[in-house]
Amino acid sequence: MSFSPDVHAKRIDGVRRRAADSGLDGVVVGPGADLAYLVGVEGDTIERLTALVVTPGGPVTMVVPRMERARIRGTAAEQLPLRVVDWVDGEDPYALLADALSGRPSRIAVSDGMPALHTVPLGQTLGVRVELATPVLREGRMIKDAAEIAELRKAGAAIDAVHRHVPKLLRAGRTEREVAADIASAILAEGHRSAEFVIVASGPNGADPHHEVSDRVIRDGDLVVVDIGGAVPAGYNSDSTRTYVIGRAEPDVQRKVDVLVRAQRAAVDAVRPGASAGHVDAAAREVLAEAGLDEAFLHRTGHGIGLSVHEEPYISPGNPVELRAGMTFSIEPGIYFPGEWGARIEDIVVVTDDGCEALNLTPHGLISCPARGSL
Ligand code: ZN
Ligand code: ZN
Ligand code: ZN
Repeated sequence: MSFSPDVHAKRIDGVRRRAADSGLDGVVVGPGADLAYLVGVEGDTIERLTALVVTPGGPVTMVVPRMERARIRGTAAEQLPLRVVDWVDGEDPYALLADALSGRPSRIAVSDGMPALHTVPLGQTLGVRVELATPVLREGRMIKDAAEIAELRKAGAAIDAVHRHVPKLLRAGRTEREVAADIASAILAEGHRSAEFVIVASGPNGADPHHEVSDRVIRDGDLVVVDIGGAVPAGYNSDSTRTYVIGRAEPDVQRKVDVLVRAQRAAVDAVRPGASAGHVDAAAREVLAEAGLDEAFLHRTGHGIGLSVHEEPYISPGNPVELRAGMTFSIEPGIYFPGEWGARIEDIVVVTDDGCEALNLTPHGLISCPARGSL
């Protein structure tokens, strides 16, 4: 979960500097990926407050429920120069946060994952309108360092290994749910600490990008969208989609999927430092438009990935965010034909000094699984 304390200390310094630059008196980071990024502890309580307080000039304080204190042991949080303040049920944790912010703060920002359950009472205790710390926090998390990229590479190899098993699991006569359960086990067996999501969308279900699983029985000739991911022990996520076919696809379906493969490739080829996120999105869309398939592409081309499955930068139409070396995100165009079928292909890429490195390396075209007759 955590890297060396120096790495975390540098990240906290970055937040402190950006908080000062934006004129904030303090940043309060609640449980989740932002907290894990800064101190190596995710802090999983919901109703009991865990939060890190970073002020531009003063000390760094971590407020934790006393019964959660053991979770800090052995993590970067224990070795960092920060003050841990614990509290027990019945005490007012917001008063502790207010103490940690010291003085009379007028501008306070909270991480976007902080529940309203805590944000509202914090604002009331301080008598200020709380702002979003997203601009201060995303800056660091968007650019991955070498250790983070190594973890994402590990995650990519692990999910590729799972995709290599899929043709053995997918066949006519099994339900989506049965296949998904086997895939979830394979995600763990291949080195993830958790399976974060398993989408097995067969036949017409493939036309719904958000379909997860159902009891639909997979049939000969079905296209099956398999979009899967998990977190490796350090907390970094994998996310890769491949589209399978049971037996053989009809020529028109095959032709459309071939266009999708080219669209995905075009977007990967468009990734380089200095290009905008919107430019990468447009590269996929243009290939689909030339084949009259742009109307079938219902979502953005991709999303950043790291300690969260979805984070900045978003590869969406017109997004002016300039790509920089160390950014990691998905490239996942899809085509969807309601009531009929759908297909999506997704790789995670890392922006390098002169282009990008793909972290998912399994074949991109339609992958054939044996039809029932041929087993
Ligand atoms: Zn995905
Ligand atoms: Zn994705
Ligand atoms: Zn997703």
